[in-house]
Amino acid sequence: MQIPFNKPFLTGNETKYIEQAVKSGKISGNGTFTKKCHEFFEKRYGFKKCLLTPSCTTALEMAAILLDIKIGDEVIMPSYTFVSTANAFVLRGAKIVFVDSRLDHPGIDEEKIEELITSKTKAIVPVHYGGVACDMDKIMALANKYNLFVVEDAAQAIDSYYTGKDGIMRPLGNIGHLAAFSFHETKNVHCGEGGMLVINDDRFLNRAEVIWEKGTNRAAFFRGEVDKYNWVDIGSSFLPSEITAAFLLAQLENLDDIQRKRKSIWSGYWDGLKDWAGAASVQLPFIPGNGSNNGHLFYLVCKDVEQRTAIIAKLKKNGIQSVFHYLSLHKSPFYIDKHKNRELPESDRYSDCLFRLPFFYELTIKNIDSVIQIIKF
Ligand SMILES: *Cc1c(COP(=O)(O)O)cnc(C)c1O
Repeated sequence: MQIPFNKPFLTGNETKYIEQAVKSGKISGNGTFTKKCHEFFEKRYGFKKCLLTPSCTTALEMAAILLDIKIGDEVIMPSYTFVSTANAFVLRGAKIVFVDSRLDHPGIDEEKIEELITSKTKAIVPVHYGGVACDMDKIMALANKYNLFVVEDAAQAIDSYYTGKDGIMRPLGNIGHLAAFSFHETKNVHCGEGGMLVINDDRFLNRAEVIWEKGTNRAAFFRGEVDKYNWVDIGSSFLPSEITAAFLLAQLENLDDIQRKRKSIWSGYWDGLKDWAGAASVQLPFIPGNGSNNGHLFYLVCKDVEQRTAIIAKLKKNGIQSVFHYLSLHKSPFYIDKHKNRELPESDRYSDCLFRLPFFYELTIKNIDSVIQIIKF
């Protein structure tokens, strides 16, 4: 038996739409398929404006440009995250102020943010790890109190929700001033490499379009709002081609089916492992009452690194690939000297003890059962 960690799902329409894009004669960015993807998200989740990008990494880079991040500005984020969350802001000269993770799940510890805010703080970047919502009421209240911006790293958070104290359930990516999604092949919905910037705050609408199109007002030109297009700001090439958008649209049209399947895989792991985990002192995923489960990943947090190494090795011996991830960024070779000696024990614990089980659309009940049996016995 061989069970890979990931197998990118194909809905069957990707090549058909790519062929249409190729034959249409309009293959560069911001054509019909790109607009259909934007409309899908704007309609389904009420995002004010969406811009497809080549990756979530570049969407975060656009966010850092939009917020006018300058040398010496401070940006607050969890240490337990993917490197791009930090890199996007470091590229603009920011100093990253890392926060520890929560005891009950790997997301940012919302209670430890306020003490780190200074006069230089410009933004907070919560990461919805595993698609599980950070406590956005608390984070938005801090942003209002100290006049900060919030960029949601929603790379893993498609089709996930947060219910605020006001009782309103909002999609993740619709709460911060800006949000970034990923369509990398390891995410629920993908196009190989791809991403999207969401603009929820009116103040960023016009400039986002300019930055997206290399610092020009080309989009306004095509709408007939200006009679020639010009270099008006900094920017870069942040548009994916129509080939990428065509692939993505085929996936989006199957989102409900993909989500149903992924949530059932998640429940299969949960039901099969919950009793064992208690007995083995292994921490299971936690979904807070104000969050939702989008079936992005299934992780286990072992009691120590030895237990994790042993379980991963046992799975590997049986042809099953499981992976651990995120080494605390505050201890990375690039940042360790820049991080003031604040200990972040929970972030380190997830770095040492968390690992992820195989998780993809085509995983069968039999596969899930094999993984569970090998972990247990
Ligand atoms: C996947 C991921 C990214 C990067 O996404 P890309 O599309 O590969 O650039 C950023 N942040 C988090 C939390 C991710 O999981």
